[in-house]
Amino acid sequence: MVIQYKHEPFTNFSEEENRRLFTESLRYVQSYLGNDYDLVINGERISTKDKIVSVNPANHDEIIGTVSKATVELAEKAMKSADETFQTWRKTDPEMRSDILFRSAAIVRRRKHEFSALLVKEAGKPWNEADADTAEAIDFMEYYGRQMLAVKDGVKVESRPIEHNRFRYIPLGVGVIISPWNFPFAIMAGMTAAAVVSGNTVLLKPASTTPVVAAKFIEVLEEAGLPAGVVNYIPGSGSEIGDYLVDHPRTRFISFTGSRDVGVRIYERAAKVHDGQIWLKRVIAEMGGKDTIIVDSDCDLELAARSIVSSAFGFSGQKCSACSRAVVLEDVYDEVLARVIEITKNLTVGNTADQSYFMGPVIDQAAYDKITSYIEIGKKEGKLVAGGKGDDMEGYFIEPTIFADVDENARLMKEEIFGPVVAFCKAKSFDHAIQIANNTDYGLTGAVLSNNRKHIECAQDDFHVGNLYFNRGCTGAIVGYHPFGGFNMSGTDSKAGGPDYLLLHMQAKTISEMF
Ligand code: NAD
Repeated sequence: MVIQYKHEPFTNFSEEENRRLFTESLRYVQSYLGNDYDLVINGERISTKDKIVSVNPANHDEIIGTVSKATVELAEKAMKSADETFQTWRKTDPEMRSDILFRSAAIVRRRKHEFSALLVKEAGKPWNEADADTAEAIDFMEYYGRQMLAVKDGVKVESRPIEHNRFRYIPLGVGVIISPWNFPFAIMAGMTAAAVVSGNTVLLKPASTTPVVAAKFIEVLEEAGLPAGVVNYIPGSGSEIGDYLVDHPRTRFISFTGSRDVGVRIYERAAKVHDGQIWLKRVIAEMGGKDTIIVDSDCDLELAARSIVSSAFGFSGQKCSACSRAVVLEDVYDEVLARVIEITKNLTVGNTADQSYFMGPVIDQAAYDKITSYIEIGKKEGKLVAGGKGDDMEGYFIEPTIFADVDENARLMKEEIFGPVVAFCKAKSFDHAIQIANNTDYGLTGAVLSNNRKHIECAQDDFHVGNLYFNRGCTGAIVGYHPFGGFNMSGTDSKAGGPDYLLLHMQAKTISEMF
């Protein structure tokens, strides 16, 4: 009997014992930094000459690991392995597939701080953010394992006296999993776990800045008893093997989380039917966001200010759900802005191996350049009232930055920056605030701070985002509690961590037998 799902609790780092254990894990991870990781194809470890070098974004001199880089030939080999393994994996008992996820979750739980410490090093996450990433990875495995048990027998349809009808879900085939670096454990593991527990085999291509945590996850799956060939680990260049696998006639589905540009490219390419292809590929694409917190005149202003700060600057604003726009009703605008500036000025930025820093680095040079260029744009479009400076000498550090009095149609209000930058915009009325919040191409998350019931109801109908929150921030969705995914250019609204997510990896079959 499987016990009821409950999300993994977060570690309380104000307790000294937890800090001691985490420090020990950081030391342990330090002892294996610089190791070399192979590709894993059909259970075989393959080393290539060409490597991806994973570097700590907080310290240019610290190499996290070197990882073999798949070529097109190796991607083809992985495809063959996944294609063959599908014939046996699709018939394995769904309960066994779920059990492998439960066991994997248990292994990760036992090594929880080690995984989180690795995320501190490889992604520059602060301790609490790394801990949440690992907890979410555990949650995905626990939740999808249970979801598989819930759907394994299909759904009841009507039968007649001499006719027995069944309706069940079968897996699709080989999936290509393409994951981002910002939740390098949770999203990578969640996308993989969902595909595999549904009976599919996969090629896993993690983001090139965070391939080591994915290599460690492969070890967990192996230890948990996942048969060879079900998950093939093939880090590599997005444009080289990414395009190749997306175009491949044996690819049955692509599960992607990442930027809008790459998501749209995959969606378009996947639509083309290639020689030898006998299906229409399915695409699950979760993309960017331009997420807004609306502050109503009647609300807890202190809560509003704190929600903006934590949603805008947690993990340096590098969350698809991060608050990058604060739309504040004009009568409380000055007060909220002043309080947000005050809290922000006390935030510290540095190498988060040291727990005392609130914010770590941004992920790499390209991110640093992009964010600092938006800060320059912001200086023309608004008033810089906090932060604004960066330093990429040792790591890619950027101060938490606030721009005030930004016009609702400014670039800063419309384009995803994906860094610690938030724009403040004044609204004349609540309707106006909703109008501003909806004025981007995206529709991922949003939050409203309000005590006005009418406004809350109105936002429920009209604030067009996949995840809408009231009287809290707009980040921090929890698996099984807040199924996550967005509207419009935020993607296909494939709600990760939700009750219908697994079905996106399956197809329904009707079976009717006459007696
Ligand atoms: P990215 O699009 O640059 O990369 C994502 C993945 O796509 C990586 O593995 C990359 O190697 C791969 N890739 C690149 N080019 C490819 C190609 N031509 N074909 C196939 N794969 C290719 O995104 P990122 O920088 O890793 O992540 C940040 C973005 O992800 C942000 O836009 C953020 O909003 C979004 N994101 C969305 C969600 C969500 O649930 N909606 C969650 C996390 C991140």
